[in-house]
Amino acid sequence: MSAPFTLPPLPYADDALAPVISANTMGFHYGKHHKTYVDNLNKLVDGTDFAQQSLTDIIKKTAGDKEKAGIFNNAAQIWNHTFFWESMKPSAGGKPTGKLASMIDSDLGGYDKFKTDFAQAAITQFGSGWAWLVSENGKLAIKKTGNAETPISGNATPLLTIDVWEHAYYLDYQNRRADFVNAVIDKLLDWDRANERLGA
Ligand code: MN
Repeated sequence: MSAPFTLPPLPYADDALAPVISANTMGFHYGKHHKTYVDNLNKLVDGTDFAQQSLTDIIKKTAGDKEKAGIFNNAAQIWNHTFFWESMKPSAGGKPTGKLASMIDSDLGGYDKFKTDFAQAAITQFGSGWAWLVSENGKLAIKKTGNAETPISGNATPLLTIDVWEHAYYLDYQNRRADFVNAVIDKLLDWDRANERLGA
């Protein structure tokens, strides 16, 4: 079997985001969950045309196709997790700088309101899913998606995400999703990267 998809390296050490995200959580979340999506996708695309296609092409082509749900779910989860790791860095979070600072003021009612609304999207996503800050038609928007659903199957450009599947926080926070979400917002969100994604 060929294995066209590989687990991208973490952009920092597995303990770099502690204590917000412990090395133990990272070991399972990146080392087991993220890796399993890669292994599953390699099995599912083996011998198909998808084996030669990019992850984003596969996601766009299989979104909404019930017969391809397994391929979509694993491909989207690979992409979403890689994007999540790249939405955070140590000693970050809090108020943004640059173009996003002014866009949050003009489009989302200021940082305090953004923080409340972004956390609320993450906390109220029922069951498994993701909260997103996206750029859509030149404006910022907050979205939430269920399970593996991802904004890149539509027209929005993701800028930041938080994984709110229980596996993202249960070892460190048990059922306290709100504590996990607020700690990520306050201490880990990588606004520099988000500004780069905006082309700022
Ligand atoms: Mn996850």
